[in-house]
Amino acid sequence: MIIIMKSDTPAAEIERVSSELRRWEITPEKSAGQHKVVIGLIGDTSEIDPRQIQNLSPFIEQALRVKKPFKRASKEFRYGEPSEVVVPTPNGAVTFGQNHPLVVVAGPCSVENEEMIVETALAVKAAGAQFLRGGAYKPRTSPYAFQGHGESALELLAKARVVTGLGIITEVMDTTDIDKVASVADVVQIGARNMQNFSLLKKVGATLKPVLLKRGLSATIEDWLMSAEYILAAGNPNVILCERGIRTFDKQYTRNTLDISALPVLRTLTHLPTMIDPSHATGFSEFVPTMAMAAIAAGADSLMIEVHPNPAKALSDGPQSLTLEGFEQLMQEIAPLGTFFGRWTQNHRATTTPNFAPRVSSTAGV
Ligand code: PEP
Ligand code: MN
Repeated sequence: MIIIMKSDTPAAEIERVSSELRRWEITPEKSAGQHKVVIGLIGDTSEIDPRQIQNLSPFIEQALRVKKPFKRASKEFRYGEPSEVVVPTPNGAVTFGQNHPLVVVAGPCSVENEEMIVETALAVKAAGAQFLRGGAYKPRTSPYAFQGHGESALELLAKARVVTGLGIITEVMDTTDIDKVASVADVVQIGARNMQNFSLLKKVGATLKPVLLKRGLSATIEDWLMSAEYILAAGNPNVILCERGIRTFDKQYTRNTLDISALPVLRTLTHLPTMIDPSHATGFSEFVPTMAMAAIAAGADSLMIEVHPNPAKALSDGPQSLTLEGFEQLMQEIAPLGTFFGRWTQNHRATTTPNFAPRVSSTAGV
């Protein structure tokens, strides 16, 4: 259940209502938006009549039951106001959210060595990205595949952060690594395969570190939002939802199927900011730009793009990685679209007409 307070409610009145609710053995959770203060009621509210609540104060505009199983993640919980995840980085705070410029995250699948991560970081920064991504701990289908360099890769990410000032996004796979990863990462990533690792969700929820929650390979939108709910319920409001493609039946021409429809659906269900990862979704670098543009058009708040200085030699996910030049070209290509949708700013460097030759159409030579 949620209580919407009138916009001129004095802070003392909100406190008085909250104390009263605590006496009913309900935990009130205040959430202040730009225009309204909403008090979420956590606990068993099944016996409470909304009219009883209405009588608590003349400043109560409305008391509503949230019918969705995801409460804190639901749009109603913030009375329709989108939430923002503000991430301090050495280059300044970056905000993920519906009313903010598109945030671009780019970098290799895995951190391989110092030279490649620093080179990639400098290049993606120059092209206009705000975050560097790169895996230190890699969830691989095969135990014989490259598993990531672990702690030493975290040190290299820290170095790239100092050199470029970019924020760092990297995955945490194990609860025992959270502190280590969080000491380097500005945003910790929960990968698709761990979306329902509830111990991990509870533990990252117990920190205030921003969390990028990738959608599980076969997760429904509701499963995904329930996982976000775990993080929110543990006390961490800083969650970003990343669609990265779901399992369907084509494995030959695309790695996964990008569920672009998840974006408008999420807008109706949740206040949380969104991200699209067209690299893991398609599995092929040639399809990444088209899907990145589709994501912007469908209202994504951020993009994650895999970039590698030499994709042919990458230790993981080479086929879906753009080259450094390919990423620069992508940024130039998406700039007009970002501008059209009001999601592009001067901070994104590339705003001019592309100098590059048009990409070769994937149907050429048919
Ligand atoms: C990744 O981003 O490196 C990754 C492994 O992604 P996902 O969890 O979406 O497969
Ligand atoms: Mn990858």
